[in-house]
Amino acid sequence: MVPNLLEKIADAPRLPSSPKHEKPKFAKEKVTVIFVLGGPGAGKGTQCSLLVGKYNFSHLSAGDLLRAEQDRPNSQFGDLIRTYIREGNIVPMEVTIKLLENAMDAVLVSKTGEGWGDGRGRFLIDGFPRKMDQALKFEEDVCTSSLVLFFTTNEETMLERLLERGKTSGRDDDNIESIKKRFVTYKETTMPVIEYYEKFGKVAEVDSSPAVDEVHAATIVVVDKVLT
Ligand code: UDP
Ligand code: MG
Repeated sequence: MVPNLLEKIADAPRLPSSPKHEKPKFAKEKVTVIFVLGGPGAGKGTQCSLLVGKYNFSHLSAGDLLRAEQDRPNSQFGDLIRTYIREGNIVPMEVTIKLLENAMDAVLVSKTGEGWGDGRGRFLIDGFPRKMDQALKFEEDVCTSSLVLFFTTNEETMLERLLERGKTSGRDDDNIESIKKRFVTYKETTMPVIEYYEKFGKVAEVDSSPAVDEVHAATIVVVDKVLT
């Protein structure tokens, strides 16, 4: 179906990259990173937008960064990203991590200190890490996370929300075939990441079945704890 994608990636010209750096690139004293996970349609993006308003986080959605790269004229990765997303698969981590790293760099250059109470860059990384290799590599190379915010609801609710969103989102993967595949990937590939962070006591689970503002109220309780 998708032959030699990894080889294609190895051969492709690299994404714009920054100079070599000490690992991890961003020290914990400089940035606070919260990973935001949960099934497709669980409400990650919606809740992140509300947190941005309250705490001045920079919201980086891995899916949005991948879609922007997919649509960037002359991107070497456009077709590859499109295929992975439509199939509900996880894009090879090198691409996603580099996009996140570049986005964090851009934020830190443009608005250091501004609106961040403790002077640290505050990042909500939405929809990432979805696979163990991404989690380990990001923490080793880019920076350590402070918390995994984990939104949970049942599959019927997620399906309903995704189909509703699909009416206007224009997303290639908000259709029933892709959604089913995304649910499988979530269970098989992303749940182990959440279980991994649970072992370190880093997961705050929030039931995202209720109305948006109710979920937001429950979310700020756990975020407040991390930021103080
Ligand atoms: N994706 C990926 N790696 C990531 C994050 C997202 O490959 O680290 C791809 C994956 O195919 C996923 C799609 O992007 O199904 C959409 O992700 P997004 O977070 O936008 O979807 P949501 O869960 O918010 O519906
Ligand atoms: Mg999203």
